[in-house]
Amino acid sequence: MTPVQTLLGLGSQVNRVHPRPNLLLGHSIWSTKDLLMGLLVLLLQSGGQLKASEPVFLVPLRVHLLSSETSDWARCRLSPGQASAMVTGANQIWASSGIRFEVERTLQEPAREAGPRPPSKRGLLELIPRSSFLDSAFNIYVLHEMEGNGIILPHGRLPVVFIKDSARLRTVPEGVSNPLARVLAHELGHALGLSHRQNVYNLMASGTTGASLNQQETDTARINASTVLWIGRAGPEGDEETSQ
Ligand SMILES: [Zn+2]
Repeated sequence: MTPVQTLLGLGSQVNRVHPRPNLLLGHSIWSTKDLLMGLLVLLLQSGGQLKASEPVFLVPLRVHLLSSETSDWARCRLSPGQASAMVTGANQIWASSGIRFEVERTLQEPAREAGPRPPSKRGLLELIPRSSFLDSAFNIYVLHEMEGNGIILPHGRLPVVFIKDSARLRTVPEGVSNPLARVLAHELGHALGLSHRQNVYNLMASGTTGASLNQQETDTARINASTVLWIGRAGPEGDEETSQ
């Protein structure tokens, strides 16, 4: 399984859809003569704009606004309305890619286990309430304070995203004004298989307000989105496809 597949938790899900998904996701694609490579090359050369005939991918999000009676760092300060604005901002960043994030539900709920101080990395997984995790969406957990602005971690077969509502970013020219939207958009880039690219104007740079995606990143994210069964598609007009 490729790192992207591991991150996405695709496993057998993908194998039912794509018999050889590594041809699309792995670096070795440029050395193979497989027919699929030719198709991907055509896709990568198709230009910066989404073609009118290409679908919009609809990526469901379940947003969890964590609370805690004892741990101030775990107590998210965002209202559901502010969380909605965060997703709207992330969608503005991703708009030209033909990928749209849709909030399936926003929950305000207690963290499962929160100690006196924010845990490092994988310790954050202890915060996840057991009953509200949705295995057909990217689950986004918002808390108040932790190391870094956001992080993506594997949780079972899916990646989960943690974001702190106190996120701070380095301002760069042409960057976005809503740091939370940018942090969410960046982490969702990872969830869709993108790596860091340290150009300050780029969405996948670390810790800046940069928000641009290049064609290769857009194509990679779309290819990965296309392999996930619970990611929907809408026609180019934005109407959701219900059959076919
Ligand atoms: Zn990152």
